[in-house]
Amino acid sequence: MRGVPIRLELGPRDLAAGTVLMSRRLSYPQPDAAKEAIPLEAAPGRLAAELAAFQAMLARRAADFRDDHTAVVNSWPEFAAAVAVGWALALHCGEQACEDEIKTETTATPRCIPRAGNPEQGTCIRCGGPSAYGKRVIFGRAY
Ligand SMILES: [Zn+2]
Repeated sequence: MRGVPIRLELGPRDLAAGTVLMSRRLSYPQPDAAKEAIPLEAAPGRLAAELAAFQAMLARRAADFRDDHTAVVNSWPEFAAAVAVGWALALHCGEQACEDEIKTETTATPRCIPRAGNPEQGTCIRCGGPSAYGKRVIFGRAY
């Protein structure tokens, strides 16, 4: 049953009543472990809608997790603290040697340069050199 988003239980009593018991594996943001009896003939349409809602819920939960664990940082101590528990949005010079130094100190590496967000220039979070890319870079640790 692990990994199954929606479970349907159909026993003799359910069949006699023309219903099926539906339960979701998880919900977000509120837990919802309750089972729900749905009419058997409505199950196919309902399941399609439930699966679409489940997919949207997973995407929302992942985006919320990402946003809750991403910090905009402007100093090295902030950077180190942010990558210890999630991701850091920081300006970087784009130099490989600087990137290697960051990796040695924190095990964090650049993950991506998000398209969203305003263009930004400044100084590198590590070496203080001029920033590259015209954007902040997301750094994170690999697991
Ligand atoms: Zn640098």
